[in-house]
Amino acid sequence: MARTECTCGNLISTMEVPNDIELWVYTDKEWQEILKIDIIEGYLIPDYKYSVWRCPACERVYVFESGNYRAIKVYALEESHYMDDTEGCRCGAVHPKTLPPGDTRLWAYKDREWDAMVEELMVEPRKFPPPKYDVRRCPDCERIYALDRLDGKAVKVYALEEDDV
Ligand SMILES: [Zn+2]
Ligand SMILES: [Zn+2]
Repeated sequence: MARTECTCGNLISTMEVPNDIELWVYTDKEWQEILKIDIIEGYLIPDYKYSVWRCPACERVYVFESGNYRAIKVYALEESHYMDDTEGCRCGAVHPKTLPPGDTRLWAYKDREWDAMVEELMVEPRKFPPPKYDVRRCPDCERIYALDRLDGKAVKVYALEEDDV
């Protein structure tokens, strides 16, 4: 699948390479395995398990299983502001950033960033730079928090809109 219509009416496509739609997302567990590989060339990096797209117009996030044309999860942007350190998750659970990273952290790169990174790795082998945002998922309600890496405060909160699992 290379294009679909977002709920907001925007047509999103990953036909352009690299593009601003696709995200490379790994769980913390998968990422730790990747870091163990002595990565010299981009093609040694295992492919992501789920295809994740983000609509640049409304910021909805779609999660697809490989080969499946229907999204298994759709997230919608709920809030976009800084949160106080004492605030928990919107569902009432503790804030995911206070939980162990292994249970909550997602490693997410935009396709354009990923493309540039892999190209650099081919020229000069080195470890991956961390993604721009510290992305955490609440294990209770599955809300996703994109936290500013420097101050650890949420800049964007995404809530599950559709769940077909
Ligand atoms: Zn949209
Ligand atoms: Zn929650």
